[in-house]
Amino acid sequence: MKILVTGGAGYIGSHFVNLLTGKNIDVVVIDNLCRGHKEAIHSNAIFEKIDILDYDNLLKALSFHKPDAVVHFAAFAYVGESVENPLLYYNNNVVGSFNLIKACKEIGVNKFVFSSTCSIYGNPEKIPISEDQKSNPINPYANTKLTIEKILNDFDDAYGMKYISLRYFNAAGADPSGLIGESHLPEPHLIPIVLETALQKREKVFVFGNDYSTNDGTCIRDYIHVNDLADAHLKAIDYLYEVGDSQIINLGTGAGNSVLDIINRAINITGKKINYQIVERRAGDPAILVADFTKAEKLLNWKPEFSIDQIISTAWNWHQNPKF
Ligand code: UDP
Repeated sequence: MKILVTGGAGYIGSHFVNLLTGKNIDVVVIDNLCRGHKEAIHSNAIFEKIDILDYDNLLKALSFHKPDAVVHFAAFAYVGESVENPLLYYNNNVVGSFNLIKACKEIGVNKFVFSSTCSIYGNPEKIPISEDQKSNPINPYANTKLTIEKILNDFDDAYGMKYISLRYFNAAGADPSGLIGESHLPEPHLIPIVLETALQKREKVFVFGNDYSTNDGTCIRDYIHVNDLADAHLKAIDYLYEVGDSQIINLGTGAGNSVLDIINRAINITGKKINYQIVERRAGDPAILVADFTKAEKLLNWKPEFSIDQIISTAWNWHQNPKF
């Protein structure tokens, strides 16, 4: 089998490519390296430096490699940046994905796995969140992801493009090998920020609000290990072969941790002092986001393997000695 992976130099994409190696699967990575890292791409993969906005070269690469399935990670994914610069997000995420979906249709690839997000639910009506809850995005980033899901749905109806859209909760952690991990610039995510504070790269963690209606007043999120996410993508491809209908599926652990809980666990795991300060709420943060992952369990035969402490310790292993 041959799988083409866009964004294979990025955080989740590189962990997925890493998982594929040694499985008798040919892997082609397409990435423009604008936010990804060349060093993150496994040496067994064929690498094509192509921007998904460049339709001609994208089509050329797809026609040349003729993949059996496409897994699409390439996207911009900073909520704050999407609010300030929606043009960038609609262009890169929506136009870029449309190019890719169009090229797939053109050359007859009809198995597509899409990297989506729980932020499509906005402020959820009910916790845990199942896939049948209403989509109600509250920022441009989430709007772009929902738009792409709609394009996929229309392409399925009209042309039989079968897709699995995986709505991730909070991706975190690193491969236990320590060879790949999370490296964003700037880094907006909680766990890396907490660990950089443990390493004294930051003075303190700013905790965005402690007046939410949660046990300690800070926001609760469902952190899921990046290798558990990666594994679900492979199972999604199996599903497309074995069952073959399109699905939207949540990927989370069903467990929630507050911001202060993450800081306290990180203090225990690292043995370091981690200073923090409570500041104003960050705009657009729902109090609690926790997944109902029953559908993933049922359809994909998937369940998360990494605990929250394993998530933090694999991330700690990486952040002490990042390779890029
Ligand atoms: N958070 C925080 N301080 C930070 C970064 C994040 O208090 O410096 C909080 C944020 O408000 C949210 C949680 O940590 O409740 C997870 O945020 P992150 O940006 O990692 O992921 P998000 O849930 O926004 O996708």
